[in-house]
Amino acid sequence: MNRTHVPGKRDGPLRVSPVSHQKDRTPSGNPIAGLLYGTETNVLLMPQQDCDPEALPADLERIDVRAGQVVCDRGEPCEHAYFPLSACFCYRCVLSSGASLELARIGCEGFAGWPAMTGGAFMPFRTEAVSDGSSLRCSAQALQESLAVSPAFQQRVMRHFQAVSDEIARTAACTRFHTVNQRICRWLLTESDRTSNNELDITLTALADALGVSSRAVSAAVHQLQQCGALECTRGVLRLLDRGTLKAGACECYRPLQPPAGDDGD
Ligand SMILES: [Zn+2]
Repeated sequence: MNRTHVPGKRDGPLRVSPVSHQKDRTPSGNPIAGLLYGTETNVLLMPQQDCDPEALPADLERIDVRAGQVVCDRGEPCEHAYFPLSACFCYRCVLSSGASLELARIGCEGFAGWPAMTGGAFMPFRTEAVSDGSSLRCSAQALQESLAVSPAFQQRVMRHFQAVSDEIARTAACTRFHTVNQRICRWLLTESDRTSNNELDITLTALADALGVSSRAVSAAVHQLQQCGALECTRGVLRLLDRGTLKAGACECYRPLQPPAGDDGD
């Protein structure tokens, strides 16, 4: 999988594939199995007891995205919500100088394009893919209709929205008050939690870009972490070897990932 990160690339229309409709029931009886694409899934759309699958957005379709592809830029009307499968999106604040800062990442645990919930709202940040992969998307109207008829789906979506809002607020304070070394430790742990993987496909250049700092500062910090055995860095892959050391080095902004919405038994 190509994980090369090229910020801000907008390169033509998205590739769209038709998605089996919810009513295309499979032999297993799972009414939305057609949306899940085998091992690929999105947590918010997973079949759960509390959520009627018929209430999920009616026009969900699968798209393929490439790393760096912008799906909705700042100031554009947010016409779709994106529910990543293998893809991962980020919200990025881009200044007129071209400087940018990654605010939050969204993978298969959530959805991107939250202004779609309110209809006709404009995107306050750039939304771009940070890896090649696939995602489901639906129109803003279909999302709003689903939220209106399914309190359970609404609760899941709102919980994720709250989590991302918290992340964005914390990122603002973290960027202002904490060191690059602390922020790198936090970023590595957060991303490892989010992907359930201690191996992260990211170059040092992409990491510097995500944090809005120089490549030199990232290289120095990563070298330090390698020296103390907390991290291994090979070509395009960062491997977390000692989470305890990384936690000790991270700022207070690091919060272990909470259980997925809807998994707490309520
Ligand atoms: Zn911090």
